[in-house]
Amino acid sequence: MMQYPQSPLTGRMMSQPLLISSLIKHADRYYGDTEVVSRRVEGDMHRYTYRDCHQRARKLANALKHLGVAMGDRVATLAWNGYRHLEAYYAVSGSGAVLHTVNPRLHPEQIAYIANHAEDQYLFFDLNFLPVIEAIAPLAKTIKGYVMMCDRDRMPVDSKVANLLCYEDLIASSSDQFDWPLFDENSASSLCYTSGTTGNPKGALYSHRSTMLHSYASALPDALNVSARDVVLPVVPMFHVNAWGLPYSVMLTGAKLVFPGPALDGKSIYELFEQEGVTFSAGVPTVWLGLLTYTAQNNLKFSTFRRTVIGGSACPPAMMKTFRHDYGVEVVHAWGMTEMSPLGTCCTLTGKHAHLSDDEKQARLEKQGRAIFGVDMKIVDDDGQELAWDGKTYGNLLVKGPWVIEAYFKNEGGNVLQDGWFPTGDVAVIDAEGYMQITDRSKDVIKSGGEWIGSIDLENIAVAHPAVLQAACIGIAHPKWDERPLLVVVKKPGMEITKAELLKFYEGKIAKWWTPDDVVFTDSLPLGATGKILKNKIREAYRDYKLPTA
Ligand code: ADP
Repeated sequence: MMQYPQSPLTGRMMSQPLLISSLIKHADRYYGDTEVVSRRVEGDMHRYTYRDCHQRARKLANALKHLGVAMGDRVATLAWNGYRHLEAYYAVSGSGAVLHTVNPRLHPEQIAYIANHAEDQYLFFDLNFLPVIEAIAPLAKTIKGYVMMCDRDRMPVDSKVANLLCYEDLIASSSDQFDWPLFDENSASSLCYTSGTTGNPKGALYSHRSTMLHSYASALPDALNVSARDVVLPVVPMFHVNAWGLPYSVMLTGAKLVFPGPALDGKSIYELFEQEGVTFSAGVPTVWLGLLTYTAQNNLKFSTFRRTVIGGSACPPAMMKTFRHDYGVEVVHAWGMTEMSPLGTCCTLTGKHAHLSDDEKQARLEKQGRAIFGVDMKIVDDDGQELAWDGKTYGNLLVKGPWVIEAYFKNEGGNVLQDGWFPTGDVAVIDAEGYMQITDRSKDVIKSGGEWIGSIDLENIAVAHPAVLQAACIGIAHPKWDERPLLVVVKKPGMEITKAELLKFYEGKIAKWWTPDDVVFTDSLPLGATGKILKNKIREAYRDYKLPTA
């Protein structure tokens, strides 16, 4: 860790460490009656308050102590968004151990690799993941016990898994007298592995300090803008970069919290929004596609839903417009990554934009936005030379800040920083006002005749066509141009469109040479464990594709 010079005169303010346990203490004391509502894996609804949550988190902290979990030990979870997962968030980190959230959508062998790499001591899981646990238990070398997050009557009578414990037994048999320990704020608090589309997954190890600073900054009005008047439903899973910090920022602000459990289809989400009066939500574009398809087919509107943060992959402008114009829901486009806790930028307007026309405002809001305070960014060329913020020059996007990783867990990958900056692997432009726009991931960029074609732009145009549900654009090898774009498209149910019609739709919207060389229609696109379209899988599937122009 970097060391800095010290002034001879030290400030005389309390040097209280920034610790995650302070959030749940605050929520209990000032918002004790505020509800946490969960759709459970068991199928029913569960409701209690922040006060109840704090009481059970203290009981769980005692149970962990009893199990021998020490400071710095890793405790894994394999769970959907729900109240027991929330209790584990606070009990594990609050007592000084490290919460390792594992993505249950990964293959059991990958889960076992991650658990072994992290040297997890215990693993807490939702009852529907018992078959996954049975598959990984023989491969996991360090896990001493598996805690099934359910009532006693749901426990299997005979299971192949040794040391299977019942969560509710642990809670019932533990005292709620627990004083959250004080320790150095740089202690590790939680661990999240990147999805590792290339190579083995690598761990981002967050600290109490980084998590707390991220929580303060992400709650700000021009970031997530969460307050005690909000009802927040995190659609983004608690195993995907700590649900973008929402389990922390709701306690910081006192917002009511609603958990969707495993039911992420449009109908279930819509019903929960309406039943619980949800005002704010956050997730990746593919989830919102499901919700918007459901509301459109059933001619439904939202009664309370007002604002959503969309990120994780580029939010198509067409989706933003539908939310705004058809439903009165404001979309805040956000960008970040596992290595950044995750928030880097959010896109909102400033006072001086008030006089702009709707189109001019929209043009800005489609970008990924300006850095939230704490994060700094720059774009550089391949030699590391800083590039101009003119909205046209694109380069490799680098970031730094107190919630950006310095190195991966166990120093995997070695020194990853470039002169103290973290290279994000994204290619972006930044305009004179500081609005950043991602043109591509560097590995997805299409290189045509020595120039780059941004695949995100081409996809955004395709999904703006009323007959297109989803689109992915990939580079196909070309004898003359090196690569040329191929557009892979899923049509909306019951809609028809031809290749010629879709290519015509590009006319006037982009430089002519950016137009895809070909279009193929398919039934579905492969999605990764965090709900993003898997471009590498598509590239593999079309590796030998012959373009008509080749
Ligand atoms: P991974 O997908 O590798 O597991 P993350 O979930 O951390 O990891 O994804 C981070 C990446 O997702 C970013 O580097 C960027 O490429 C992409 N991303 C995130 N938000 C956006 C956005 N708003 N627009 C475009 N790309 C985005």
